[in-house]
Amino acid sequence: TLPLAGKVAFVTGGSRGIGAAIVRRLAADGATVVFSYAASQGPADELVRSVEAAGGRAQAVRIDSADAAALNAGIDKAAADFGRLDILVNSAGVLLLGPVDQFSLEDFDRTLAVNVRAVFVATKAATAHMKDGGRVINIGSTNAGRMPFAGGGVYAMSKSALVGLVQGLARDLGPRGITINNVQPGPVNTDMNPENGPSAGLMQSFMAIQRHGQPEEIAGMVSYLASPAAAFVTGASLTIDGGFAA
Ligand code: NDP
Repeated sequence: TLPLAGKVAFVTGGSRGIGAAIVRRLAADGATVVFSYAASQGPADELVRSVEAAGGRAQAVRIDSADAAALNAGIDKAAADFGRLDILVNSAGVLLLGPVDQFSLEDFDRTLAVNVRAVFVATKAATAHMKDGGRVINIGSTNAGRMPFAGGGVYAMSKSALVGLVQGLARDLGPRGITINNVQPGPVNTDMNPENGPSAGLMQSFMAIQRHGQPEEIAGMVSYLASPAAAFVTGASLTIDGGFAA
């Protein structure tokens, strides 16, 4: 049987990029996957169709992660519709760049709302439904530990916040048999960071393996963390970055 047979997963930001690869992988592992998106209805519907064509189950819901009430309600509804909730993956994220003298307070607030506040909101909502064996997996960034470019300070701050969050929440959730971890990718080929983009070469120059990762490589680590085999991994920030931070 498949490792996640009978499980229900909620993935934020599943319409494109790393989140979409995670949706495909968790569905291939046997989970029923509900995923959120902000705007991309076409890609979201197409992803549902392709998961179903491969024999899996997925459902798309439009929820801006910055809207805490909507995110909370969407997670409650998924748990009610499918009778349980076992896995939460917080993948929705924004990358807003700019030097400090030009970085607006609106962009600061937006970064924190999506990359940090929504992670707390979704984790609180989802873990209320989880039983023994529950899993929370955040998509942080290797930039939590190394930010070798100008203009990325607020993004790096938002991702390093997740390091402390999973350490502390692991203590809250451990007694209930629920793990919470933070996956920290390096450059990964998505719309956010295309492998043929103008700064790809500079990023790759910092790496031990000088290429962008593919979304499926990140999904592989998420699949492991979601599985019963990872029951002893919690409170960890696991870097998967081709040696960017090495
Ligand atoms: P993309 O920009 O390619 O895709 C972002 C996804 O998140 C889309 O599905 C988008 O939905 C969704 N999303 C964005 N904002 C919101 C929101 N407010 N509410 C709901 N959904 C939202 O990003 P990646 O796949 O590259 O990144 C995914 C995660 O991985 C992010 O947290 C990012 O910070 C992190 N990361 C990425 C790296 C990279 O090099 N690509 C490296 C390290 C970390 P929609 O399609 O509707 O816009």
